Amino acid sequence: RDLVSPEPDNDEYAIEAALRPKRLDEFIGQARVREQLSLVLESAMRRNRPPDHVLMSGGPGLGKTTLAMIIAAELGMPLRVTSGPALERAGDLAAILSTLSEGEVLFIDEIHRMARPAEEMLYLAMEDFRVDIVVGKGPGATSIPLDIAPFTLVGATTRAGLLPAPLRDRFGFTAHMDFYEAAELEQVLTRSARLLSVDLPPEGAHEIARRSRGTPRIANRLLRRVRDFSEVRADGLVTREIASAALNLYEVDGEGLDRLDRAVLGVLLRKFGGGPVGLSTLAVAVGEEPETVEVVAEPFLVRQGLIARTPRGRVATASAWAHLGLTPPPDAFG
Ligand code: ADP
Repeated sequence: RDLVSPEPDNDEYAIEAALRPKRLDEFIGQARVREQLSLVLESAMRRNRPPDHVLMSGGPGLGKTTLAMIIAAELGMPLRVTSGPALERAGDLAAILSTLSEGEVLFIDEIHRMARPAEEMLYLAMEDFRVDIVVGKGPGATSIPLDIAPFTLVGATTRAGLLPAPLRDRFGFTAHMDFYEAAELEQVLTRSARLLSVDLPPEGAHEIARRSRGTPRIANRLLRRVRDFSEVRADGLVTREIASAALNLYEVDGEGLDRLDRAVLGVLLRKFGGGPVGLSTLAVAVGEEPETVEVVAEPFLVRQGLIARTPRGRVATASAWAHLGLTPPPDAFG
């Protein structure tokens, strides 16, 4: 996937780390989540207890990892980072839980992809700060209870619906992260431009922001590509024209749709007459995994009012036809 993929590239981790806000008051947007979280943290600190476990749900690139780091920083506690796919066996998780220090923050990214036995171990750990270590096999197996230090779990998921209810219920607080408004992304871009010493006037920030799919990770990435373009083809100043020309070159269209978004729309309109069509059929037609279409392309297309989810499948809206410059069939909207 290319420029507007919300997933980080391999060589992007270092630059992302440099651009991450370190404290809650530097974190831009998501006002409700920020306020809720600051209450949770402040009250825990007053009671001198680790805060409740926190679940963050939202699409890739919206700031879940950043917030997990901020939670630890605000509490003044160390952060341990792992991810669902890394926790294949209960032992993988036991090794981490049994070495946590008191008050430590444990971040599990993609928590919906954790294996079942690890998940069950986590229930007990979250509730009672205890794990049962199973020793031996078969009829002779015994389980040895082991106390662990009180800790705070921060889980992140792009698919909260996939979390089993017993796990979801053990989080004291769920933060729902939504797409960012263009004005918020302008602030993200202005801050990043300062850190990267890019000459970005407000009109340039505005142009990049409205084409960033509501996602800070994408905004930061487009900023770097626009910077390259302006340094090579112009004098380094990112005017609206320069930003626009650079983004056109990288195939990000005027609404921020990228190639996958346009492929999904194109197939829905040209091949299925605007739908309704099922998600997996759509995914096969564009040659992508259903999960990629569902997590990456669809939420943004829905938010832009280009497609709608109905009980019978995905349907294109009138704006979708207009966006691709196509004429809908006469019976398209009943
Ligand atoms: P996620 O874990 O949800 O995939 P990240 O926390 O890794 O997303 O964020 C991706 C990038 O976007 C980070 O480099 C971070 O600098 C930037 N970012 C995310 N949210 C914000 C925000 N609210 N303010 C400023 N930068 C942000």
